[in-house]
Amino acid sequence: MPADIAATTPATLAPKGDTDTDVVIIGAGPVGLYGVFQCGMLGMRVTVIDALSEIGGQCTALYPEKPIYDVAGFPDIAAASLIERLEKQAEPFNATYHLSQQVTGLEQLGDTDNTQWRITTSKGLSLTCRAIIIAAGAGAFGPNRPPMAGIENYEGTSVFYAVRRRDDFAGRRVVIAGGGDSAVDWALSLHEVAARITVVHRRDKFRAIPDSVNKMRRLAEDDSLDLVTPYQLHAVDGDGQHLNAVIVKDMEDNERSIPADVLLPFYGLSTDLGPLKAWEMDFERSQIKIDPTTCETTRPSLFAIGDVAHYPGKLKLIVNGFGEAATAAHQAYRYVFPGKTLHFEHSTTKGVPGAA
Ligand code: FAD
Repeated sequence: MPADIAATTPATLAPKGDTDTDVVIIGAGPVGLYGVFQCGMLGMRVTVIDALSEIGGQCTALYPEKPIYDVAGFPDIAAASLIERLEKQAEPFNATYHLSQQVTGLEQLGDTDNTQWRITTSKGLSLTCRAIIIAAGAGAFGPNRPPMAGIENYEGTSVFYAVRRRDDFAGRRVVIAGGGDSAVDWALSLHEVAARITVVHRRDKFRAIPDSVNKMRRLAEDDSLDLVTPYQLHAVDGDGQHLNAVIVKDMEDNERSIPADVLLPFYGLSTDLGPLKAWEMDFERSQIKIDPTTCETTRPSLFAIGDVAHYPGKLKLIVNGFGEAATAAHQAYRYVFPGKTLHFEHSTTKGVPGAA
């Protein structure tokens, strides 16, 4: 048994109904936030914990200004606006949010007839609950840093792994590295405000949506941006904090220096689930295996939803995560209110408890 999972004696078991909260949701991304609403509608008290300093998960951290086109009912909605609406929808239930701390420890306090958990965080918070909904996305995520000596000294001044406000890059010479959707989408968006955009990719073929790639190639043909392929990032050239240029190399080691104020490496995110990996659930690579009919993991009363959850045919889409949040909340109910029958009701019938 891993060190941070300790089955304790019944003596440490809190009396029934005496936990700090009913459900802990790990992750305040879009799916975790919708989980707050779903649990709240069923009368469960919720506490949310997130490693980031703001709610919203990937939507807030990676693409707040980008429009999302496939959320049901919204022909298009900026990622940040979606998060605002999810927060508002969850508001009537007064969930407690503990941000800027990673969930690290899990301790089982009960058996399957009276399951209780103690969860601990990197800031020393300790909470007991009856069910846990893991909405941890790709884990406490971080960007993949390109192997360039000294790049960390430029991070936050000249090197950024995400675009929070595109106007921050107005009038600047921006080098974007990568061949996926983020690289191509931001090249298309930032070329409208930046002094110059250069896209560096190690192959001439891009993995992004073909329509976007075609748009980018047309801009390059019109000399509105530069495509530098097949080249890879090699070195940063600057005063130790502010860039003057980015040095790139091709496969034959030919070097080019690209004048630049800003470097945006879009090499994806590292997907380390960290401590959650030690929680004795079954995994499929970096996703937690769940039963899609209940969203329960292989450990009773531990649920997983959203990007972190895996089952055959799983789609990592926000809308799928929303459905999983509803399922997990309805299934968690039996652990929170053991022996109480849950009578399914539409929201149109019961309204939103607590809302004005
Ligand atoms: P996340 O948004 O990843 O949130 C997980 C949260 O859990 C994070 O805030 C993290 O800090 C926290 N966390 C993880 N581990 C811990 C821990 N141990 N302790 C505390 N906190 C922890 N999807 C669509 O449906 N449509 C789109 O058009 C679309 N476009 C996208 C564009 C881009 C550029 C990107 C990057 C993604 C896009 N997605 C899109 C995917 C979408 O953002 C994800 O599917 C969605 O964010 C998943 O939500 P989530 O709540 O499951 O996880």
